[in-house]
Amino acid sequence: MKESISIYGGGITGLFLAYHHVKNGDIVTLYEEKETLGGVIGTKKESEGLVELAANGILLTDDIKSMLDDIGLTPVFPNKASKRRYFWTNQKLSQFPISLFSGTKLLYSILLKKLKFEPNLNFEEWGNQMFGRSVTKNIIEPALGGIYGTRLNELYPDSIFSKWDGSGSSTIFKEIKKHKKKTYGTVSFPNGMGDLITHLRNYLAKKITIKTGISISQLSDIQKKNRSIRICISLKKLLPILKPILKSDNIPNLLTISTITRFGETKLTKKPCFGVLFGKNEGIQALGVLCNSDLFPGRVNGNLHSETWIYPASPSKESKKNLETILENDRSTITMKMETAKKIYITTWEGVFPAYDKHLFSFNQTLDQFEMEWEKKGMDIKFYGNYRKGIGLRSLFESTML
Ligand SMILES: Cc1cc2nc3c(=O)[nH]c(=O)nc-3n(C[C@H](O)[C@H](O)[C@H](O)COP(=O)(O)OP(=O)(O)OC[C@H]3O[C@@H](n4cnc5c(N)ncnc54)[C@H](O)[C@@H]3O)c2cc1C
Repeated sequence: MKESISIYGGGITGLFLAYHHVKNGDIVTLYEEKETLGGVIGTKKESEGLVELAANGILLTDDIKSMLDDIGLTPVFPNKASKRRYFWTNQKLSQFPISLFSGTKLLYSILLKKLKFEPNLNFEEWGNQMFGRSVTKNIIEPALGGIYGTRLNELYPDSIFSKWDGSGSSTIFKEIKKHKKKTYGTVSFPNGMGDLITHLRNYLAKKITIKTGISISQLSDIQKKNRSIRICISLKKLLPILKPILKSDNIPNLLTISTITRFGETKLTKKPCFGVLFGKNEGIQALGVLCNSDLFPGRVNGNLHSETWIYPASPSKESKKNLETILENDRSTITMKMETAKKIYITTWEGVFPAYDKHLFSFNQTLDQFEMEWEKKGMDIKFYGNYRKGIGLRSLFESTML
């Protein structure tokens, strides 16, 4: 039966959800607070090349491929050379698995060690027990820090791997196998990630009603509506709306992140690469850097090189000028040369990321409870977003599938 759905929030989560409902034949109205759709995702065309405001790529799966076909968008695949991914450990660039010792330890932990999450241990403490200190410091810390926008001691394993069986009866290998889907690597689009938003919007505009400049501010307003409600607004915007019904100790933490696109005349690494991930206490403040112009064709104009650096920064602490200096210092640690950038573009997103910690885990349990209690009272209200089942676009696409 055709359902009538109201979706609040026209970021990528709301757009993906609208897409799945359209495929299901439902009648959808999408409400967005701003005049434009896409949320944090967008691409600016500057004279030096493309500047992404948030995501630089999406992990391609068969389901995402089929969505791209529907919306008439051809992905741009990464250059072959970008298979090279570096870790900055012990003051030098290394490739996975860093050393034979680390590789063997990691393999042993993945294949043979029982997977047991300890609710009182943060990811760093748990990782030290599960993989050993060197693997945690040199591989896990940089890899997860780059994705979750923070350091390991701010993260909790059961929040990140909420779908995995962490009761002590499975192994990481078994859980990976159970949840594995075929993937085709990270892709972008001819004019950057903004293309994904434009194509989704154009596809949806013919099939659903889109109302911009409209926002929800009170829960009671939507609870009165006699149709299915899907809330796809960011966690930062959701918290004030839920405040009247949330306990004060059940408020999740939000993180601020800065993404800096640097155009310069020289490359960061001698050989082309995907990018570099940085561990803690390695003398570098960035979490990671993507070498855009090594990665995808068409990112720069002329002979420039483009890099995107990610910082866990708070704008009150780090002025833009400071961030520029920090970036050039970080960069010179790798290149061993102090160089000047041709141009730097900084975007700071305050509170854009949820901290994947204990608080978020119990907050999500509360949301599940709300959803169930409301359903019993005949109200069909559900929450979607990067605080529910993963931060990345692929997780958002899969979590909105019907
Ligand atoms: C710097 C950075 C780099 C990233 N890199 C990657 C990457 O390379 N690959 C990847 O997979 N992921 C990446 N991510 C993660 C991914 O981009 C985000 O998780 C995702 O875009 C979040 O989308 P969203 O729709 O849930 O939220 P948002 O983008 O925040 O969208 C929410 C929407 O809701 C609207 N809204 C807010 N309040 C209301 C209201 N009251 N009523 C109605 N509408 C409202 C907003 O205006 C907005 O349009 C990155 C994120 C950042 C910040």
